[in-house]
Amino acid sequence: MPITGYVCTLCHRRFPKESAFFTCPSCGEKGILEIEYDYEAIAKVFTKESLANNKDLTIRRYQPLLSIPKIGDDILHVGGTPLYQSTTSKRILGLKDVFIKDDGLNPTASLKDRASLIACAHAKSLGMDTVACSSTGNAASSLAGSAAKMGLKSVIFVPKRAPQAKLAQLLAFGATVISVDGDYKDAFQLSKEAILKYGWYNRNAAINPHLVEGKKTVAFEICEQLHYDVPDWVVVSVGDGCTIAGVYKGFYDFYRLGFISKIPKLLGVQAQGCRPFVDASREDRDLIESDEATIADSIAVGIPRNPQKALKAVKESRGAWIAVSDQAILSAIANLAKREGVFSEPAAAAAYAGLEEAVKQGIIQPTESALVISTGSGLKDIDHVRQAVKDPIRIPPDLKRLEEALTERRIS
Ligand SMILES: *Cc1c(COP(=O)(O)O)cnc(C)c1O
Ligand SMILES: [Zn+2]
Repeated sequence: MPITGYVCTLCHRRFPKESAFFTCPSCGEKGILEIEYDYEAIAKVFTKESLANNKDLTIRRYQPLLSIPKIGDDILHVGGTPLYQSTTSKRILGLKDVFIKDDGLNPTASLKDRASLIACAHAKSLGMDTVACSSTGNAASSLAGSAAKMGLKSVIFVPKRAPQAKLAQLLAFGATVISVDGDYKDAFQLSKEAILKYGWYNRNAAINPHLVEGKKTVAFEICEQLHYDVPDWVVVSVGDGCTIAGVYKGFYDFYRLGFISKIPKLLGVQAQGCRPFVDASREDRDLIESDEATIADSIAVGIPRNPQKALKAVKESRGAWIAVSDQAILSAIANLAKREGVFSEPAAAAAYAGLEEAVKQGIIQPTESALVISTGSGLKDIDHVRQAVKDPIRIPPDLKRLEEALTERRIS
């Protein structure tokens, strides 16, 4: 564990690596910590060659760049998700190249598996037996899944509006599920009090600096899968801001190790109905609380918990922020599925909608390449997918009627 220590994202004070707290003692809860590494020491044992020879395709292959003790063998297969080079999107959008990283193919069907595996492994290394979080869905289902595999108990606080598939998943994984009569803010607040009271491991993403370190592995995989020739843009949907912060950190680590020659520009995508980051960056001010009016439940976060790291990720990468309508998100679900064979939940398709919009606005140029991270599977939220697509062709069991229907639609 070659970490050198922690630095507060607000007051920039440094803390030794032995520190046991999750947030800055002087800034309180808003003082999210950043974990710093000793890249010189890491470079001695961790090289492109050592990676190429490593047969472990889970995120454990990046252990030298993780902030927790050695992860054991009793884990779900998190990571190693496919990266596709598109032909259809590239042609339709008129870009140099388009890539899709399908992280909805993780074990519990979202990118959150990367952070939850780290949470469970960290809890185990600390001798704790219960992990807890509040979540709009994917953080919860992934935590419950990894906890089940690793023999831990999980307690999950969900807001009332969590989609049924996500709720079903965590119940199936044996989690204790507390459905809070309120929104995400209420669920978060209650979980915070309960975690303090009962001493459970805290998987609330922003507060816990180790989770961004799990999420960054998606960027490591992108580098490896593209043979260290990274695209000009990487497009990420944003709720709390931990995912985009993780993506940035991953590219930053590999840049510092000399594995890649540039950090891609990050396009942060939010929904029109919930866009605190987009507004804050446009008006160059701090974030203010926003409505949570979007179908993309995984990014409907009115008070993002990780503003500093996410703003920094876009700024330092010289990227951009963009908002997309729910209508554009629904179209993107269908477009991404029929153009690329990748099935996404609304929050994940929002990234593809962001790409389409950024091309339209000239933020992304035809000479540039872009990679979209699909962060969660379409199976997570079937009701919204059904709004995005046509109904099936309904006929009686009769060949003649089939023929008529096909002719009518010019299919045969
Ligand atoms: C959590 C999540 C996001 C956004 O991640 P944040 O860390 O909240 O910004 C995007 N897409 C999906 C599917 C998610 O579950
Ligand atoms: Zn501080």
